[in-house]
Amino acid sequence: MSMTVVAATGNAHKLQEMRAIFPAWRILSEREAGFLGEIEETGETFSENALIKARAVCKATGLPALADDSGLCVDALGGAPGVRSARYSGGGDAENRALLLKNLCGVTARGAHFCCAVALVFPDGRELTAEGATFGVILEEERGTGGFGYDSLFFSDDLQKSFAEASEGEKNAVSHRGRALAALEKLC
Ligand code: IMP
Repeated sequence: MSMTVVAATGNAHKLQEMRAIFPAWRILSEREAGFLGEIEETGETFSENALIKARAVCKATGLPALADDSGLCVDALGGAPGVRSARYSGGGDAENRALLLKNLCGVTARGAHFCCAVALVFPDGRELTAEGATFGVILEEERGTGGFGYDSLFFSDDLQKSFAEASEGEKNAVSHRGRALAALEKLC
C-alpha cells in the first residue's frame, strides 16, 4: 500500500535507508513535516522507544509517523550497547566505535547482532510495530567507508563483508532495518 508518512528520526542515514527500502511510500523528514522538536528516548526496549518517537511525531504533525529504534547488541558485553547504542560513549559515531573496540580488546568470541524495532502510528490511534535482526561479528578494526554508526565494525554473516563495505542495496536486503520494515509492510 502506498502512503505518505513522516519519518520520526533526526538521523539522515536512517531516513535514506527507509526511503530506499520503501520507494513506493512518500517518506517526509521531520523538517519537511514541520516538526522541529526533540524526543527523549526513555524506553527500556527498542519497541518502546520506537512507539514513543512515532506517537510524538504523529501527534505533533497530524500525519502517520514511522519511527525506527535500533542498536547493536554484543554477546560478550551482555547485549550492550543495545538501546544505548547512540549514546554509548557520550560522543559521536567515531567515539562509540572506539569505545566498542576498547571494551572488546582481547575478546575472541565477538558475536553480535543489530536489532531494529519500527513503529507506525496513525492519527486515528492505530499502532503497528515490527522487529528485525541481523547477525555477524565485531571486527578488530574498521573495514569500509560506507554506512554509519557501527557499520565499519560489523562483519555480516549474510554478506561476508562489513556493512560499510556493502552497497546500500546489499545492506538493506539483509539489515535489521530492512527486515523490520519488510515485516511492517505485511501488516499495512
Ligand atoms: P537510535 O535508534 O536513534 O537510538 O540510535 C541507534 C544507534 O544504533 C545509531 O546511532 C547507531 O549507533 C546504531 N545503529 C542502528 N542501526 C545501525 C546501522 O544500520 N548501522 C550502524 N549502526 C547502527
